[in-house]
Amino acid sequence: MGKVIAIANQKGGVGKTTTSINLSAALAARNKKVLVIDTDPQGNTTSGFGIEKNELENTIYELMLGECSIKECILNDVIPGISIIPSNVNLAAAEIELIGVDRKEFILKREIEWIKESYDYIMIDCPPSLNMLTINSMTTADSVLVPIQCEYYALEGLSQLIHTINLVKERLNPDLDIEGVVFTMYDSRTNLSIQVVENVKDHLNQKIFKTVIPRNIRLAEAPSYGMPINLYDVKSAGAEAYLSLADEIIKGKED
Ligand code: ADP
Ligand code: MG
Repeated sequence: MGKVIAIANQKGGVGKTTTSINLSAALAARNKKVLVIDTDPQGNTTSGFGIEKNELENTIYELMLGECSIKECILNDVIPGISIIPSNVNLAAAEIELIGVDRKEFILKREIEWIKESYDYIMIDCPPSLNMLTINSMTTADSVLVPIQCEYYALEGLSQLIHTINLVKERLNPDLDIEGVVFTMYDSRTNLSIQVVENVKDHLNQKIFKTVIPRNIRLAEAPSYGMPINLYDVKSAGAEAYLSLADEIIKGKED
């Protein structure tokens, strides 16, 4: 049975997209079949897999508006083991177009039911806001994975995010779990990174992954080559970290 994981944090620049791309690729490297869904109009997950985002006939936008079927918007095997539902800037209009649509919080969930059995993992990259796309993602998901950047304001906005997750759980998706928190852009040379990790551990009563994603320039470079890190530089610290995170996620599903 496919597990659906939404990667969410309404803060921008915390590593959601980097995690969506590279955790998915690491799961595929462990022989899991993965579908990645890009729900951010910026389409960075889409282009990060080397897809020309502005030349697509069907995207998550057409799917949300009922203009195509889920099978029509999946790009199969963009790299071995990974398929993707792409996104581009058109999606920015979806929020408005969906005004007044009945049960619009459940559109993605209804569509995913058709294909959920075909994958081991379905990873949803959320936009940097708590909008209708994020709500759709959380309504669809089995769990939410929260990347937290190791910076001074790391805890800011987290209580709002957890409140949102709890609201969705109460009203839309009673089975929703928090998969855990993963620290990103960790810099072992600075006291700040170490303090942030300690501070979040003290204040956040959530599962925290043992794997910490280091700040690694190779992770920042890979998208401009349209490749996940394990294809761009498999020996990098970033590639190793995402493989280790994938192993924790796999183990969590088996337990
Ligand atoms: P979000 O999707 O949350 O907005 P991104 O994944 O796009 O965040 O990351 C924001 C920026 O930080 C991007 O330029 C990305 O390449 C860079 N970045 C993300 N994670 C790392 C990392 N571990 N090391 C170095 N750069 C990173
Ligand atoms: Mg992003």
